[in-house]
Amino acid sequence: MKRWPLTIRTRLTLWYTGVLLAILLVVSALAYSLLRWSVLHDVDQALVTTAQVVHEASEEVAAMTVIPGPEAALRELLGPEFYDKFFQLLDPEGRLRARSRLRRGGTLSLSPEARANARHGRPTFETVTLADGPPARILTLPVVRGGRVVQLVQVGMSLETAQRTLSRYLTILVVLVPLGAALAAAGGALVAGRALRPVDTMSLTARRITGEDLTRRIPLRGTGDELDRLAETLNAMLARLEDAFAEVRRFAADAAHELRTPLTALRGGVEVALRSARSPEEYRRVLESSLEEVERLTHLAEDLLLLSRFSVTVSAPRQRVELEPLVVEALDAGTQLAHRRGVAIASTALAPAAVVGDAGALRRALLNLIDNAVKYTPAGGKVEVSLGREAGRATIAVRDSGIGIAPADTERIFQPFLRLDAAREGTESGAGLGLSIARSIVLAHGGDLTVESAPGTGSTFTIRLPLA
Ligand code: ADP
Repeated sequence: MKRWPLTIRTRLTLWYTGVLLAILLVVSALAYSLLRWSVLHDVDQALVTTAQVVHEASEEVAAMTVIPGPEAALRELLGPEFYDKFFQLLDPEGRLRARSRLRRGGTLSLSPEARANARHGRPTFETVTLADGPPARILTLPVVRGGRVVQLVQVGMSLETAQRTLSRYLTILVVLVPLGAALAAAGGALVAGRALRPVDTMSLTARRITGEDLTRRIPLRGTGDELDRLAETLNAMLARLEDAFAEVRRFAADAAHELRTPLTALRGGVEVALRSARSPEEYRRVLESSLEEVERLTHLAEDLLLLSRFSVTVSAPRQRVELEPLVVEALDAGTQLAHRRGVAIASTALAPAAVVGDAGALRRALLNLIDNAVKYTPAGGKVEVSLGREAGRATIAVRDSGIGIAPADTERIFQPFLRLDAAREGTESGAGLGLSIARSIVLAHGGDLTVESAPGTGSTFTIRLPLA
């Protein structure tokens, strides 16, 4: 089932209104029951007072010689208070002695409960429905004299007025509560809309920013609030993207440039050879030098491929790799080149250590370092490779006694296609991809590759990898 997408604004408004409505309902219910309780309490108080007056009056009336009727006498005694009340006097057995005129219906009945309470001298309050009339509140009050119940006074009062008051209050609530909720919803929508408007502006700006125009930024409002911080975060992300895009462009340009040099050489050689008839030896020479260029190109293409693979993720299998044999192998491979150049190469301290990753790639990274160490070390110098452990990490260090690197260049050399002038003067400078490939591989394995160097004294490149 597809869900209807609710905007944050609608959701906030709904929540706000819902919560407010719940609060209003609870408060209204409480207010209504408090009012009801207090109205009934007042009625009961009035009944008690009336009952006492009726009782006292009944005695006075009995003493009167001219009897104007109990009701008239009471009216005289109680005044307007009496008008909405009625009473009857009963003997202890519940037989009627005197009563006022009931407005509607006949006599008040004496409930078994009231009778039982009266027997023990206790008053009883009841709510009863008189014949086809409104409900009434009745108090049965026993009069005790000398430890004996001598008379029961029953006073009643119609609850019509009280009920009318309560129902009017209920009507008011039924109108006011939804009205309050509706006003709250309108207000909530307004407030939510205002609060969220900057978000809309922000997403509109963000939508306009494309890969071609990464220089644009989301404007800050200067309030320093959550939205400003969000804008700052997005801007920082854009800045990183801009850098990354620039780097990709630079890389592509450098790569194209790097490919063009051998291609130009190749083309030049072939063109010259084709210009006139050549002897087989001459053709052979041209083909040989062409092959060299093709080899350079192949090598470059392989390097580029490797770099692109490891600058994204390690797509290679992640297996346990023992580093000791790997170092020995790389060292063997480096020995040939070292001998040719008159550089001594050896391993010092080899401790067993294992990591998880791609053995081939790691060997390649180490080979690049050994290659450089040999390449940038003059004849008579030495290269040392060591393997150890340090704080939960395996460390492979390649130390040479070569030309060294100036402090300002120690970070630059890891950029693709970067070759230092000092190295260019040397014989076998490569495409400048060796160190960036090595670093990408090591980073993809969760490790790091650093260099310490002093010009003229030599360099130490160190690979640190998390142990398996
Ligand atoms: P290259 O193919 O030129 O060797 P790298 O990426 O391997 O490219 O190295 C980049 C540059 O770093 C080299 O041109 C060189 O100037 C410098 N470099 C690398 N290793 C060493 C080293 N062991 N001693 C001195 N300079 C080095």
